[in-house]
Amino acid sequence: MNECGITIALSKGRILEDSLPLLAAAGIAPVEDPLKSRKLIIETSAPGVKLVVIRAADVPTYVQWGAADLGVAGRDVLMESEGNGLYELLDLKIARCRLMVAEPQGLAAHDDPRTWTRLRIATKYVNITRRHFAAKGIQTDIIKLYGSMELAPLVGLADRIVDLVSTGKTLKANGLAEIEHIADISAWLVANKAAMKMKYRPMQDLIERLAKAVG
Ligand code: ATP
Ligand code: MG
Repeated sequence: MNECGITIALSKGRILEDSLPLLAAAGIAPVEDPLKSRKLIIETSAPGVKLVVIRAADVPTYVQWGAADLGVAGRDVLMESEGNGLYELLDLKIARCRLMVAEPQGLAAHDDPRTWTRLRIATKYVNITRRHFAAKGIQTDIIKLYGSMELAPLVGLADRIVDLVSTGKTLKANGLAEIEHIADISAWLVANKAAMKMKYRPMQDLIERLAKAVG
């Protein structure tokens, strides 16, 4: 743990782009542009506040272990990660999208989710998918992928996928359609539990500024 300062873990990619304006509004401006810099640790205009820029799926791990005091992580990543040794403090309302079941348009035209009993699904969200369908008594054969889920139905890997959708353009471009909604997703501010006690004042100060910036 960073003894007196505060370290904030940010996901590379979409969340980073959407986080920077929010952090700036909260008075936390990186001294170098994290979108361009190759540095993994970036100082900010706020005294003692540092940013670390990491893979989205690693944010909960850094925060749970106290390598970062605060983190910005998608709800998808939080739902998927098994442990819950962190506080989910604030919905930042950025990087909004939805987690959906999708399938080829031809199949979707006559498919009815109420008739599902057993599904073969390709996804990177193995835990969420298993939980979602187990709760409905539907058996699943899950094929774990790390990206490009939309490809799976096109090559016969699985009829259905569970993936994030925002505009739906990628699905459409690959002849897929949404068939079932699993969850609405946005990025959340998360915190290490020990840091919330040991650095109460500076943590609370940052959290309040971010809450104001969210509006
Ligand atoms: P990597 O590309 O390093 O493997 P990743 O695919 O998880 O990681 P992104 O695609 O940038 O990286 O996704 C990071 C987070 O951004 C996701 O966990 C999700 O919360 C959010 N996100 C992903 N896709 C969208 C989208 N289409 N619209 C809005 N937010 C999204
Ligand atoms: Mg990606």
